[in-house]
Amino acid sequence: MSQVTALIDGNNFYASCEQSLDPSLSRQPLVVLSNNDGCIIARSSEARALGILMGTPYFKIHHKLEKLQVQVRSSNYALYADMSQRLMSILEANCEEIEIYSIDEAFALLHRPANGDLLSWARQLRAQVHQSLGIPIAIGIAMNKCQAKIANHTAKKIASHSGIFDLATEQNTDSWLESIDIENVWGIGRKLAQWCRLQNVNTARQFRDMPSGKLRAKYGVKAIRLQRELLGDTCIPLRTNPPPKKETCVSRSFKRPITQLKELQEAISTYVVRGGEKLRQQNQTTRSLTVFVQTSSFSSSFYSKSATTQLNQPTNDTTTLLKATMPLTEQVFRPFVPFIKAGILMQGLQTTKYQQQYLLANYKTQEHKGSEQLMATVDKINNLYGSNTVTWASCGKGTTWKMRRNRLSRASTTKLQDIPIAHA
Ligand SMILES: [Mg+2]
Repeated sequence: MSQVTALIDGNNFYASCEQSLDPSLSRQPLVVLSNNDGCIIARSSEARALGILMGTPYFKIHHKLEKLQVQVRSSNYALYADMSQRLMSILEANCEEIEIYSIDEAFALLHRPANGDLLSWARQLRAQVHQSLGIPIAIGIAMNKCQAKIANHTAKKIASHSGIFDLATEQNTDSWLESIDIENVWGIGRKLAQWCRLQNVNTARQFRDMPSGKLRAKYGVKAIRLQRELLGDTCIPLRTNPPPKKETCVSRSFKRPITQLKELQEAISTYVVRGGEKLRQQNQTTRSLTVFVQTSSFSSSFYSKSATTQLNQPTNDTTTLLKATMPLTEQVFRPFVPFIKAGILMQGLQTTKYQQQYLLANYKTQEHKGSEQLMATVDKINNLYGSNTVTWASCGKGTTWKMRRNRLSRASTTKLQDIPIAHA
């Protein structure tokens, strides 16, 4: 029984999540917009077939979309993150080991059964995901990660494969590798691809067969690993335990430029509250906190500024973080300057498992325990009843500066009041 690697990913993931929870969108051309309803970041296959391109700014294309009766949704990350978690737990139950590679992609390790057939396993997994989540997935099986990416690409591209392709059982892999442009080989960046094209290396097969001495001299061992993987060796292992994060950022663009200190404080507070939640989810604390702001980069008087503070005691307590950020917000603020974006950056993250205490800080164990319990309770309430059910007064009630999301779908899987109703 040989070990193989599979790459499993959701097709048009954001669009598929939207279609899965709103039957009126099923088989309809649909696009999903980036933050602030900026550009197109996902398309259903029906929208792709109409020639709508990724990355097109919405303001440039909205007339055309209307004419073609394309449905439009603002990005609903709460929904996609929840659907992703559900997808990954199905994959975990059906594979020996998985590496979650992105919100909709995972590498998996499998052993090939004695009869050599993994297609029936793949068909069953596709059916299970479709039944549980209503989204289509593609499964590419190969000898290693780099080839699994190619197999997955082929599974999607050729309709007769029905979303499944086992490259490792192919007698002649040359023709498949020949069909993959150099830019589409996993791990090959823009610069390396350009260099390859100059060497007349245009496909995955040509990259596999090019002299490795030249490649090593120019791009080092990372490029050689990719070449070896295309030859069939396994050089890039699965990372089943991702390393802990070293920093976390929360930033957003505003719906309209803001010029008032109070509004900026509300925005920064909102990001700090979200940042605190993230830290607690990651079981981490932060030692350093930065607030940054910027005006439009297209404006003639571009302004951006940041201010940082170091905390005596690393923490994930939102109240402490808010207290530390308020003076920083005042430092970066300038009257009459129209800010379009702001954010917070938390660096020097540490695990909550081992907490290094600061000798000169006035550390009160009882107070710390109380704050931990309070944060856990706030998180629990917000998880149960939806985000911001309980929040801090400094976040304000005004929402006029908040991100534009005019076409947001319901949080059908994470909010009690948004659960779809079935009329029987
Ligand atoms: Mg995908």
